[in-house]
Amino acid sequence: MIKTIAVMGSTGSIGRQTLDVANANPDKIKIAALAANTNDELLEQQIRIFNPDIAAIFDREAAKRLNARYRGKTEILSGEEGLLAVATHNKIDTLVAAVSGYAGLRSTLAAVENKKNIALANKETLVAAGRLFMEAVKRNDVSLLPVDSEHSAIFQALNGERYEEVKRLLITASGGPFRGKQRSDLENVSLDQCLKHPKWSMGKKITVDSATLANKGLEVIEAHWLFGIDYDKIEVVVHPQSIVHSLVEFKDGSVIAQMGLTDMKLPIQYALSFPKRWDNAFGQLDLVKASPLTFEQPDVLTFPLLNLAVECGKNGGTAPCAFNAANEEAVYAFLAGKIRFLDISAVVSKTLDMHVNINNPTIDDIECIDKESRINARIAIKKMN
Ligand code: NDP
Ligand code: MG
Repeated sequence: MIKTIAVMGSTGSIGRQTLDVANANPDKIKIAALAANTNDELLEQQIRIFNPDIAAIFDREAAKRLNARYRGKTEILSGEEGLLAVATHNKIDTLVAAVSGYAGLRSTLAAVENKKNIALANKETLVAAGRLFMEAVKRNDVSLLPVDSEHSAIFQALNGERYEEVKRLLITASGGPFRGKQRSDLENVSLDQCLKHPKWSMGKKITVDSATLANKGLEVIEAHWLFGIDYDKIEVVVHPQSIVHSLVEFKDGSVIAQMGLTDMKLPIQYALSFPKRWDNAFGQLDLVKASPLTFEQPDVLTFPLLNLAVECGKNGGTAPCAFNAANEEAVYAFLAGKIRFLDISAVVSKTLDMHVNINNPTIDDIECIDKESRINARIAIKKMN
């Protein structure tokens, strides 16, 4: 049966790779809707290739430019209402949620409320609103398939297993471009050094998060909500080769690992093929070439954002939302050259010091804390200039 999907964030790293997967499986995937933020030129190319029913571009100026050029059958929408129309389009059965950052939350939640299955790349949705999101998934009886490689690995290792027999989830981390460095080595690192990830080619925001290890903290929170596993049973292990994508240890001492090429198209395709597996058009793992595979402890002193994120996860309520908002603001300030690399964790700490936690938050509470934390983060950023 053909799967009809929408791709939110189609012009990004995950979005483009999702379209590669669709291209490789034309008899299995149909693209009915696309959405992006400002990149009208790439979106237009994608529209011409995939002929979706609708395409949304959030930025109104970009939408004007696209409308002025484009004369085809696809309906072009813009703004928040455009994103919501894509996420809830009546022809789709699955939404690939691949917007970066908190901006993905509303539309992904709307898709769930409209009974769409979700292939989730946008981890910030689960970090900011984990409880609400998982409740909505349950209430609407939709399937939630992880795209993030570590979570896809855990999902595969848990397939057919009893969750109560799980001893630990072991989430692997590449360690990023600054693995092995000390804090004093990182005082003056440049943006270019930070964006040179040793193993993965990804969007800029997540690449910086990989360098600070904030990404791994976000992933621990993501795993907690996806699999309903307590934080004290989730650990991070650094595995620089990024071949073992994560592992599950069971109470009998067995450890099941999932391995594969360092290629996001594999977990993207699995999220769309599940419960089946489709042929792979993207290459096979050569274990001998990939050897040796090594593992080490994360350096939580040099990279404090890992533990800070996990602490926020454990505190629950709006703490992870505040962490996420502060981290996004700090990363964007770093990308804009306004602060230095080590300032990112300082901005997040200062913002969290000002956060007053709300337990069992509503979506309005989450919106409010997201806004407030961004304001506090911007104040901290200004003081650093
Ligand atoms: P990119 O920055 O490469 O792409 C982001 C996409 O989201 C772009 O299409 C962008 O549009 C779109 N976008 C951003 N803001 C909005 C908005 N307000 N409205 C509509 N569209 C918007 O990010 P990645 O693909 O790297 O990451 C996407 C998500 O997947 C993140 O949550 C990330 O953590 C997660 N992820 C990514 C991995 C990777 O390998 N890249 C691996 C695992 C998880 P435009 O191009 O027009 O700006
Ligand atoms: Mg990941």
